[in-house]
Formats: sequence, structure tokens, C-alpha cells
Amino acid sequence: MGGNIDKPGFATLCIHGKKHLDKHEADRPIRAVSTPIFQSSTFAFENVAHGAAVFRGEDSSYVYTRLGNPTQTALETEMAYLEQGEAALALASGMAAATTAVLTCCRCGDHIVSGDTLYGGTHQLFTQTLPRMGITVTEVPAYDPEDFAAAITKKTRLVYLESPANPTLVLSDIAAIAEIAHRKGIPVLVDNTFCTPYLQNPLVLGADIVLHSATKYIGGHGDTVAGILVGKADWILRARMEILRDVGGCISPFNAWLLLRGLKTLPVRMDRHMENAMEIAHFLSYHPKVTEVIYPGLKTHPQHELASRQQRGFGGMISFMVKGGREAGRVVMDNVQLCTLAVSLGDVDTLIEHPASMTHSTYSEEELRKVHIDPGMVRLSVGLENVEDIIADLRRALALA
Ligand SMILES: *Cc1c(COP(=O)(O)O)cnc(C)c1O
Repeated sequence: MGGNIDKPGFATLCIHGKKHLDKHEADRPIRAVSTPIFQSSTFAFENVAHGAAVFRGEDSSYVYTRLGNPTQTALETEMAYLEQGEAALALASGMAAATTAVLTCCRCGDHIVSGDTLYGGTHQLFTQTLPRMGITVTEVPAYDPEDFAAAITKKTRLVYLESPANPTLVLSDIAAIAEIAHRKGIPVLVDNTFCTPYLQNPLVLGADIVLHSATKYIGGHGDTVAGILVGKADWILRARMEILRDVGGCISPFNAWLLLRGLKTLPVRMDRHMENAMEIAHFLSYHPKVTEVIYPGLKTHPQHELASRQQRGFGGMISFMVKGGREAGRVVMDNVQLCTLAVSLGDVDTLIEHPASMTHSTYSEEELRKVHIDPGMVRLSVGLENVEDIIADLRRALALA
């Protein structure tokens, strides 16, 4: 049974049909308006010499989707542009971005100084997982640049900030802390998840690396888990070729595409998130059952001035405390109907959650007290519904508390 590749059999045609498309691309350019999803794990070499040149780093052709893919590149190019950085790296999750960043900067014996209010997963990485690998972290009050100066040692290789921080909305003065760190030659990373590049550009303020949980506002629709790093081209190349290559937290082409789609509406969504959040913050401030409202846009926020200087808007996240503490907060969260009781944030849907028992349950009771996460604190990620409907829902639930 002699085969003939000019008259391929059925199974061969099933697999190789696409080659005809490749052949025709030259005389029939595609010019797709939406970046296509390059759902391909691997990319062909012209010949062995070409493949060898790619592996020597002398040719930038695509090789394998863990290391790069055209849909990822489109996302990375856009994110670098929006954050005003040289290059970006898209990853499977915000935590994959955090791990990749830390491992690019640190080895066994090294030290990190970070703000003390962090996403719960980052806190767990810093206090449980990294110490097992010989990397230690000192968490200091995020609002005082002098605390960062005092905590830096000869072993410090990274300063890690989250501003505004999850869930206390404490801000760090990025420019002041970057100046302190740079005097000692230490790079500064800022988790910019809450602001997005629409509201804050940490690199312009002096930071060296920006991190996003793109799961949140960048994706924006609650359908994707992803992360992004932005920084200098040589640092991003090391993150990709030393850590991502070996640790493997790559993003799928489909998820990269979802983020590209999310980015198209980011400014429009952020404007509405903020408009709604400001109205809800005012409503909560005047509600007799609410004892405290934390929103950087309120003049009562202790860092309102810094927020106005450092950010171009105040974001869509609010934390508040209900009279009667934890139990009263539980009644509110168990009785909302429009707001959804769920972790995550930055979605078109309004999400409500209890940090002490959910996103920040990795903090001990004592740690929660130290970083001012009240056991009764309720966190609200304000969505894009009609604001009067969100307020009506909160008013009804608060009446029961
Ligand atoms: C959610 C979140 C993370 C973690 O990101 P994942 O995409 O869930 O891995 C990190 N930082 C902040 C501020 C977050 O809100």
C-alpha cells in the first residue's frame, strides 16, 4: 500500500487541511479586526538550521506557546503600552505573576520587604511558601515610607507594594518608597490590580515592575483567571526565559484573547465603576447602621490627598463596617439579592464578600488586627448595574441587620 503525499488519505486530510489556508494567506490577506486566537501549542520551523537559530536566541520566531504565542504577544504589547513600560509578560493568574516576579528577583537567602496589607494569597505566599524556599519577607505598615527604609537589609532584593491594598484600601506613596529603595539599588514592584493602568501608572511614579491580577478589571467580566507583569525589556525576558519557561505558569491563547477584548472597554467600565462607587460610598456614609466607610474618594479617607495626587480616580472598591460588627455584617451579606456573595472583584456584577473569613482567611486573628482588617469588615466590588438598584439592595439588607 504505497502512500502518496500528493493524494493524501482521509486521516491525513483531517490533520493537514489547514496547510491550504497557509498557502493562500499570501494572496488573500486576512486583516482580522479582532486579534485571532492562535490556539496552537507549537510553531513550525522552516528547517533544522532555522530551529537551531531560534533556540540560540538569534531568531525571534515563535516556538511553543509556553514561551510565547501571537495572541499573547498582542496582549503583552498592549499592556506594556498602557502601563508605559518597555515589555510585558502575560501569565496564567495573578499568583503566577507574583511567583514569577519573586523568583526572577530572588534566590534562597534573599529577602523581600512588602506592605503589610496584601491580597490573602500573596500574604500566604510570603509567610508560608517562600520561607520554605529560604526567601524571607518582612511586612511593614504600607502607608509609611520610613518603615520600608528601616526594614531593608543587605539581603533585600525586592520591595513589594499593593496600592490601594486589598481590602483595607490603604495606599502606599509609590514615588517616596521607590526613591528609598532605589538609593539602595532595590527594584520596586507594585500590584496595580485595584487601579488598572487607566487610573494609575506605577512605572511613571518610579516603580520598576507592575503586576496585575488581570482576572479582575482587565478581564472585567468574571470569566477569566490571568496575570500580567510589566517592566524593563531585559527583566521581562529573564522572567520569561528563566522562570516562566521552567515553572510553567503560561496563559492560554483563549484567555489572552478574552483580556484583549476586556481592554477595549476598560476606560468606559472604570468610569462607571467609579461613578457608581462614589454614589454608594455616600449612601453608606449617611446610613445609620454603617459605622465606617472606606473609599479613597471620600474626603474622610485618611489618604484622600495621596489618592488624588497618585491616581487619576478612586476605583470601584469599597469596604465598610456595620453597627453590630461581624454578625450584623453577616446578615447584610446573607440578605442581598442583587449583589452576589462571591470573592474576586472588578466584574460587571457587583460582588460582596467577608475578607476575614474568605479572601483574607490566610491572616491569623492577630495579623488581621495588626493590619486593621476588622473582623466585621464587608468588601464591596461595585459593578455596572444601575446604581439605584444596588443601593436599594443594600438598603433592604441593612434594614435587616
Ligand atoms: C486577586 C488578586 C491577586 C491574585 O490574582 P489571581 O488572578 O486570583 O491569581 C493578587 N493581587 C490582588 C490585589 C488581587 O485582588
